[in-house]
Amino acid sequence: MSLDPYRQKRNFQVSPEPRGRERGAAALKPRLQFVIQKHRATQLHYDFRLEFRGVLLSWAVPKGPSLDPSVKRLAMQVEDHPLEYGGFEGVIPEGEYGGGTVMVWDRGDWVPEVADVEKALEKGDLKFTLHGKKLRGSWVLVRTRGYGGSEGRSWLLIKHRDQYASTIDIVADKPRSVISRRLLAQIARDEGGNVTKAATGDPETLRRSGAKVPTEKLRGRAKT
Ligand code: MN
Repeated sequence: MSLDPYRQKRNFQVSPEPRGRERGAAALKPRLQFVIQKHRATQLHYDFRLEFRGVLLSWAVPKGPSLDPSVKRLAMQVEDHPLEYGGFEGVIPEGEYGGGTVMVWDRGDWVPEVADVEKALEKGDLKFTLHGKKLRGSWVLVRTRGYGGSEGRSWLLIKHRDQYASTIDIVADKPRSVISRRLLAQIARDEGGNVTKAATGDPETLRRSGAKVPTEKLRGRAKT
């Protein structure tokens, strides 16, 4: 678990992303955080991050998570991120690594359903429970065959059958930040980003170039 690849990709003089602090493997806490960041970079994706041994293990999920157990979502493993990244919502300058708008789409705790997380990661089969605001219940990340020459980094994120499984399209139904209630366009507007580009990551029914829309009026309308 090293933050070197994370840091090598970024210029912290230019990007507001946290540089991060190294933590020893001893930094074990009873509660482990998870975060999902909606990221309107070159391509829209959802960064799924699980705290483990002082870093955030990270996967980029192009379509975002699905609550439907029959749906498998591709999750490309990316470099470990610092724990501080879990609170990052804002704009990475265009031209920088991952340039675009970042939203904290969901956040909470996760609990491994396996005795040995390290072994489960090696094996490519990690079962866990999420206690988030949007995502709950039992999930699995399963490593799959290489996808486009990315041997070993392709995983599938799948919901297990439990009371939180559903056919609701959660990414369309719950498009707002769990820490600020903002849409991508509003974050871009507030933080000096590209509002037009960010808005393409918001549901079409809510696209108003960052216009403030009362949350109450949006209920039940966010289906696309
Ligand atoms: Mn990303």
